[in-house]
Amino acid sequence: GGHPLTLHRFPLEQKNRSLQAWDAADEYLIDYVLEHHNQAKRILVLNDSFGALTCALKVIDAERQVVNVSDSFIAHQASQYNLVENHLDTTHVSYLDSLSALPSDIDLVLLKIPKNAGFLAHQLSLLSHLPASIKVIAAGKAKEIHTSTLKSFSHFLSEPTTSLAVKKSRLIFSETTAKPVASKFPVSWPLEKTEFVLSNHANVFSRDSLDIGARFFMNYLPQGKKPLKVIDLGCGNGVIGLLTLNNMPNAQLTFVDESAMAVASAKDNISQNLPEALSRCLFIQNDCLSDFTPGSADLVLCNPPFHQAQAITDHIAWQMFVQAKHVLKKGGELRIIGNRHLDYQDKLNRLFGNCKVIGNNKKFTVLSTIRRG
Ligand code: SAM
Repeated sequence: GGHPLTLHRFPLEQKNRSLQAWDAADEYLIDYVLEHHNQAKRILVLNDSFGALTCALKVIDAERQVVNVSDSFIAHQASQYNLVENHLDTTHVSYLDSLSALPSDIDLVLLKIPKNAGFLAHQLSLLSHLPASIKVIAAGKAKEIHTSTLKSFSHFLSEPTTSLAVKKSRLIFSETTAKPVASKFPVSWPLEKTEFVLSNHANVFSRDSLDIGARFFMNYLPQGKKPLKVIDLGCGNGVIGLLTLNNMPNAQLTFVDESAMAVASAKDNISQNLPEALSRCLFIQNDCLSDFTPGSADLVLCNPPFHQAQAITDHIAWQMFVQAKHVLKKGGELRIIGNRHLDYQDKLNRLFGNCKVIGNNKKFTVLSTIRRG
């Protein structure tokens, strides 16, 4: 603790600004590095949520090289912003997405344990390809570090040891052994009621089967020959856009997700299942629809997320709705699926002045709203 840093969560406009941009595990990790590895010159940082670790490492030593590896567009954006905001050097910080091979000339690896165990396995697999004897220090909430988590470390790296818990956080110590171990990703499964096979990278939402929300949404997707400009917002593996391309032979589809692995999976899935439709597609890693041309889309389809960096929040859904309104043409439609208890209907009514229920079951509602003004 005690670093003179001001750190912001991203995006900046969200309502719940009281949530912190760092946690006790970040503090534990940084304190440990200060004490035991302060000489490390080139550090690989995986899953730094909003740049807290990257910034702290640069406070300690401005010349030090940090390679920030994340699947999240927002995490990278936040790190860049927080470095500048704290007047820290940005020239020795580089960014890699979660599908890139890792640089091998590394002194130390710091890893925030992701919630998704498959994604952790994928990352440990990437680390297993590095040269031997590089120290890997992982940090997370003690209650999220299970026997299976430690097994995953010993499967891909050396046998791990753990620290005492401090403020309900724990460190895991391991190192590379120069014995590459493959991960099982991407995984594939047949998409029910279709001829399609879906492939998912490790950090893609609903990895091993179809999401139950998406399954219900499938029944309420648009059809027809109109050459509409359609956006699959928060596309995940691209299932919604894939079916829409199939239903609408003249539609143009833009797939958007803030996860690099989601965007890559969506692209793989169109390439594998509807290669002839690829020329009608764009794939973009972005924070919702930020910087999209206003009034440019006919239809936005969306199965919104309800958490970010382990916090349950509906600010992303709200941001998606607000930005969808901005990006839709007059007369354009936003069609979404949501858990019934989330009451998106009220939100859309407030925002658009209209909202129609087009599908309903015990758990989900499919809603349609039109941009009038
Ligand atoms: N469309 C897929 C489906 O129906 O199975 C995935 C839906 S999943 C509920 C929500 C998706 O939104 C996730 O893939 C997540 O990565 C993405 N997402 C979360 N925050 C985002 C943001 N700020 N901008 C763009 N996409 C985001």
